[in-house]
This record gives sequence, structure tokens and C-alpha cells, in this order.
Amino acid sequence: MSSELQRTILLIDDEPLIRRSIAVYLEDNGYLVNQTDNGWKGIELFEQHTPDLVLTDLMMPGMDGIAVLKAIKERNNEVPVLVVSGNGSINYAIEAMRQGAWDYITKPIHDLGQLDTMIEQSLNRAKEMKEDKNRQFEMALHSVELAEQLYRLKQHDPLTGLPQRQQLQNFFYQTVTKTDFSGVIRLLLLDLDNLKLVNKSLGLEYGDMLLKDISGRFKAIMNENLMASRIGGDQFVFLSTSDTDVYTLIKTLQAILEVPVELLGDRFLLTAGMGVADYPQDGESVERLLQNANIALGKAKKMGKNRYCLYQSELGSQANQRLLLEAQLQHAMQREEFHLHYQAKVDALSRDISGMEVLLRWTRKNQITAVGPDMFVPVLEETGLIIDVGSWVLSTACRQYCRWRERGMAPVMLSVNLSAVQFQAGNLPKTVAGILADTGMEPSCLCLELTESMFLQEIEQVDEILMQLAEQGIRLSIDDFGTGYSSLSYLLKMPIHELKIDRSFIRHLPADRHSAAITDSVLTLAQSMGIGVVAEGVEVEEQAAYLTSRGCQELQGFMFSRPVSADEFEAKFLR
Ligand code: C2E
Ligand code: CA
Ligand code: CA
Repeated sequence: MSSELQRTILLIDDEPLIRRSIAVYLEDNGYLVNQTDNGWKGIELFEQHTPDLVLTDLMMPGMDGIAVLKAIKERNNEVPVLVVSGNGSINYAIEAMRQGAWDYITKPIHDLGQLDTMIEQSLNRAKEMKEDKNRQFEMALHSVELAEQLYRLKQHDPLTGLPQRQQLQNFFYQTVTKTDFSGVIRLLLLDLDNLKLVNKSLGLEYGDMLLKDISGRFKAIMNENLMASRIGGDQFVFLSTSDTDVYTLIKTLQAILEVPVELLGDRFLLTAGMGVADYPQDGESVERLLQNANIALGKAKKMGKNRYCLYQSELGSQANQRLLLEAQLQHAMQREEFHLHYQAKVDALSRDISGMEVLLRWTRKNQITAVGPDMFVPVLEETGLIIDVGSWVLSTACRQYCRWRERGMAPVMLSVNLSAVQFQAGNLPKTVAGILADTGMEPSCLCLELTESMFLQEIEQVDEILMQLAEQGIRLSIDDFGTGYSSLSYLLKMPIHELKIDRSFIRHLPADRHSAAITDSVLTLAQSMGIGVVAEGVEVEEQAAYLTSRGCQELQGFMFSRPVSADEFEAKFLR
């Protein structure tokens, strides 16, 4: 590739590891990369040689990403600026977008391919904008009159004089932006049942005359709350913004059609199928409403002539399913439908069992298979049920663990997942202390798995809860590590004993360079801080071997054991 054709990217990031890995990736993909670790230098480079695109970190000492963005916008507003945010909150990235950033990506970047796509899209858009500008200039050369004439032609159907699609859009947007908008817009799609037959048997002129007649009638009922338009052969669209019920509109249209059309001595009786979709629940744009009204129309046509149908959204049925799930979960505890599975963790070197993670399962009455927690834990969280269920999980697991200890099991770690909602409930350290006392569980054998989302709450409060838990001798682990937004340096100020590398990074080991780089840096960092690392989702020996060679102490995954019932766990791991 010749250097004139090579596109240049200016990369500004103060973290050398991340900057280098991005630069190497981009260079591998054919870009020329100019890189620097600070904003001042970045702007200097920008002035010296305008790049095709700028990629800047947001959190940097000295001049931060937003200031860089502003300075670049002042110098040249056409170069796309993308930001990399990693400062624990998405708000910063949103602020950057407000200030004119084209797009953002959050650190850690799991998939550099995503970054590549983002860059590619921005470069294409920049190119299009440039072409657009030229086109607009040419357009301006045409006379205003000509443009207006074209516009009118586009707006009205030459045969019937009814508005067309573009007018629908205008009417829709004028309505939704009105200050006294009632909140209702109803789109009715009407399809004449027998026009095709008329066209076929009597000829197109007859058909056209019929259309004109019918359109005249539709025009007559138009008012400021009702627009009629023709969008194709025998299809009409009505937009109604009054809150009279849908059946009134349908009956009005049917009544209009019931009067036969008199043409050259013949009388024609027309009928129509109708489909209705309502803003906003069935769609938030004319396009969407039309699509859904069309689905409804399809159903109406299936029922026969002169039928109508209201769109019933998937969303509606999803909402119903969701309510059903909620209702079932409300009773699941007292019906004893929850139970626990245990998944072993092993020591990476000896491959002996070093601990177990407790995973919640739900088997509904009269059903054999359990539902996975990804399906229902979010609902438990949203309803607050997770507070009681979480306590039940902890006490049941502790009780089971103590029984196994009494029967000679070594004092391995018991890991229990905590939800951010339990964390917010306020009395977590006390609840946990109570459960430890009740069950006789040894605190030093209990590990609570937290997610990074918990650290997005008020900092002091989080700090205090973690301290109170740690003071009881309980170990704390950060689950799904690497998938959240929180900054590493911040996390490491907390009394954390363990990091669990998320299985999305393990999955592509060791072949994927990016996963390997992340895993390596987590391991190096944790080792220097004296924190343990567990890799989850280890499925094949290759992954286990790689992780072990890099100093990862503990492994968990299907390769060693799937999560199993207490009985199976006993049979497998306790002799
Ligand atoms: P998690 O904490 O990340 O749990 C690990 C998940 O990875 C489990 O899914 C486990 O079955 C799965 N897994 C383990 N090894 C492998 C492997 O080698 N390959 C693959 N593909 N998957 C593996 P599960 O049991 O479906 O749990 C899903 C999530 O539900 C958990 O993710 C956790 O966030 C949540 N959860 C489970 N039990 C509880 C609970 O008692 N309380 C709370 N708050 N959340 C829970
Ligand atoms: Ca977990
Ligand atoms: Ca996990």
C-alpha cells in the first residue's frame, strides 16, 4: 500500500500497555498510527499533520480527552474523533458525544474488531459528508422554483390528489412535536379488497375512476386530526391524532365504503381490509407503525373480506410473560422450588479441588428441568426478591458446607454470588454475620463474589460495606473481571482478595492475542498486589495449560466439573 493511500490515525492514550496494543492492532490493519501519551502533544501532532481520524482516551492526567476533543474541533471540525472511556462511568463518554465525539468505546476493549468497525464506519461517514457537501452545493445552483415544483409532485398523488408518504411523515412529526400533543397517534392501513378484480375485468381506467371516487370521500373526512393518504395501488393510510376509540374510525371508513360507487351506469360495491397500529406502543416512527399495521392487515385479510385487525405487539406478550414469571417467582421460595448446584474450583498445579461456587437453580412445580439463573436472577433483582433469596442461598450453602466439613472435607473455599441489590439493601454485613453465626460457617472459608457494577455506587458506602465484610474474615472476589467499567486502580484500593477473569476472555485462549494480553496483564497486576486469580469457564486443556504457565492459581470450568447437585458433588469430590 502506498503511503498516500494509507490512512492515518492519531492515537492519544496515557496508558502505555493499552496504547501499544491498540497501535499494533491498527498497524496490522493497514493504518499509519501517530501516537502520544498526552493531550498537548496530541494537538501539536494534529496541527503538524492532520490525520484522517483521532482516537483519544478520556481520562488522562493534565489535559483530559474532552479538552482534547474541543481543541481539535476548533482546528478542524471534519476529522472524526472517537473516544475511549474507562473511567467508571458512561456519563463521561456521553458528555464527549455531546461535545462532538463521533463514537465511543469502553475500556477494557474486548474486541478490537469492534474498534476497527467503528473506525471504518467513521471514516466512511466522513467521506460521505464531504461528498454530501459537494452535492448540496450543486443543489443550491438549481432554481428554488424547480425544487418547489418537485417537492409538490412528491407530496401528492397525481391521480387522486391525496397526500403521499412524505406528507404522512410531516404530519406525524408536526403532531409529536406539538406542545399540546395528546399522546395518541393511530395509523390505519386500508387495503381495498376488490380493486384488482375491477382493473382486470373492466380495465385500468375503470379502476382509476373508482380510486378517484373513493379518494374524494376520504378527502372529505380529513380534518386537523385526521390525515388520509394513498401510499400505493389500492392502499390508503390514515393517521388519526384524536383520542376517539379505534372502532369509531373503522366504522366511519366502512360506512364510507358501503355507499356503492356509480360509474357509467354501473354500481360497484367496495370493501376493504384494515390493520391498525398505535403510537407509541406499536412503533415510534411512521415506518414502524406501517410495518406493524401491515402485519395486522395480513391477519385481517386472512379472515376474509371487509375485516379489520389491531396489531398485537410481541412486546405485549413479552410483558405478559414477564408478569407471569414475576408472579411465579413470588411463590418460588415458599414452594421450595429453588435449589443449589455446586461447581468445583481446582488448584491449577495439583488439579485438586480448592473450592466450590454455589449456583442457584429454579425448578418450577410440575417441571423437570431447571431454569438457568440468567433467565430469572435479573427479575429477582428488579423485584427485590433477591434480598430474601440471596440470604436463603447463603444460609443453605453454609449449612451444606458445614455438613461436608463434619464428614471430613478439607477446609476449601465456599464461593457465593452476591447481587448489587443485596449490597444496596443496607444491612448486608449484619445479615451475613447472622447467617455465619446461625450455621457455624467458618468466615475465612467463605468467599463472596461481587460484580464490578457494585462499585459504581457511592464510593464511601461501598468502601465501608466491604471493610465490614472483610473485618469478619470473609474473602471478597470480583466476578466477571474485565467486563465492567470500573478502573483497575480504583478497585485495587478495596479490600479484595481475588479476581475472577471473565470467561469471555478465557474462551479464546491461547490463540487470541488480545485475550491473552488481557489475561497476562490481569495476572501480572494481581501478582504484584498479592491478589489471587481464578479463571472461570475453562473448558479445554490448552486453556488450563496456558493459564497455569502464566501463574494463574485456580481454575474453574466444565473441564473439571459442571455445576452439579449436592448429592452429585458429594459422590464426585468427597470420598
Ligand atoms: P457467574 O457468577 O459468572 O457464574 C458462572 C457461570 O458460568 C455459571 O452459569 C456456570 O454454570 C457457568 N460456567 C462455569 N464453567 C463454565 C464453562 O466451562 N463453560 C461455560 N460455557 N460456562 C461455564 P450459571 O449457573 O448459569 O449462572 C449464571 C449467572 O447467574 C452467574 O454467573 C451469576 O452471576 C448468577 N447467579 C447464579 N447463582 C446466583 C446466586 O445465588 N445469586 C446471585 N446473585 N446470582 C447468581
Ligand atoms: Ca460467580
Ligand atoms: Ca463469572
